[in-house]
Amino acid sequence: MITIDEARDAVRQRAHAIRETERVPLDLALHRVLAAPVRADRPDPPFDRASMDGYALRADETASVPRDFEVVARIAAGAHVLPEVEPGKAAWVNTGAPIPPGTDAVVPVEDTRGDAKVQVLRAVKKGENVLAAGALVRPGDAVAEGLLTPERIAICAAVGALEVVVRRRPRIAVLSTGSELSEEPLAHQIRNSNGPMLKALFARAEILDLGAVPDEAGALEAAFAKGLSEADLVVSTGGVSKGEFDLVRPTLERLGVTVHVHGVQLQPGKPLLFGTKGEKAAFGLPGNPVSALVCTDLFVLPFVAARSGRGFDEVLLARRARLTGPLAASPKRRRVFPCRLQGDEVQPLPWRSSADVYSLTHSNAYVTVDIGYHLAQGAQVTCLVPERSASRTA
Ligand code: AMP
Ligand code: MG
Repeated sequence: MITIDEARDAVRQRAHAIRETERVPLDLALHRVLAAPVRADRPDPPFDRASMDGYALRADETASVPRDFEVVARIAAGAHVLPEVEPGKAAWVNTGAPIPPGTDAVVPVEDTRGDAKVQVLRAVKKGENVLAAGALVRPGDAVAEGLLTPERIAICAAVGALEVVVRRRPRIAVLSTGSELSEEPLAHQIRNSNGPMLKALFARAEILDLGAVPDEAGALEAAFAKGLSEADLVVSTGGVSKGEFDLVRPTLERLGVTVHVHGVQLQPGKPLLFGTKGEKAAFGLPGNPVSALVCTDLFVLPFVAARSGRGFDEVLLARRARLTGPLAASPKRRRVFPCRLQGDEVQPLPWRSSADVYSLTHSNAYVTVDIGYHLAQGAQVTCLVPERSASRTA
């Protein structure tokens, strides 16, 4: 059986960014991935701009203060007719206003007294409280690339990119397998929690929901065939172990999928399967909810990130923290424990079983324990934090 790192490498090698692009309005572009850097169309600021409310004047005239200046103009942000300010005079400006010709600094209003005739109480240097034209960016500068965050959307708006060219989103077919799954379960049946979880985890992709399918060859083959033909990636849960009703692997192979990974030295998540057919890919995740989640975070979301045009390693962040309780190894497989990271401490959560979806409510990070090792309370460990949880670790 291969290691987690070997399995991740096998997946990484086959995770190519989607090339097709589309043009979308900026308002709909949150979390899309830019196909090419967005560039500035003009200098920013476009003019020498006051960065404080105060008085624009010549800095060298403040060498000996206090000194009085006659105020010859009042210039607000948006003003476009700018009077020339003669030596010994000043113009009132507000934040964001262009400073008028003849001036080279702004004395903040707090450092002055009076109004029509203003008394300057403090010397300023040339350029003080003025953002020079082009100080932030010059035309043609690359100002945004990659994932469109709210900050980058602001940047696109600032340079006039109200439509952006982004990569097509990956299309992901989600399929829950298992004859025990039912929406209105009788005593011997269970509800499908993996399907809704996966659809939520893939919210930034386009989802093809294939629902729940029983462990029957014909039904499975039809569902996987639809997924492989209509989506870039099929992600299934269940039916991927070594039992009589574990039909996912033979079904995928019948449909022409080459299996690259099946079985990883990982607990939970040992049965993980990954295969490809041309540019199409399939992940068979174990049915246990905790196993399905761990495999999604370690393998599937990195693959989806890379297909989306982001980095494979961008979505699982490493953070150092001190363990507040012990974690025991397994003799045969590297263990991955859902934990709670807060500040610089990480707390193990009670581990009941990989079927225990309830234990995940407080989880925001994983701690891995190598085969045969034991992590003592107080040990410094590396936590793996899924991107979606990074804002919940304070
Ligand atoms: P399997 O991987 O098919 O052997 O399933 C392992 C365990 O996960 C079994 O107890 C299943 O009943 C359970 N399971 C499988 N699929 C789901 C699902 N979609 N939602 C919740 N539990 C599931
Ligand atoms: Mg099953």
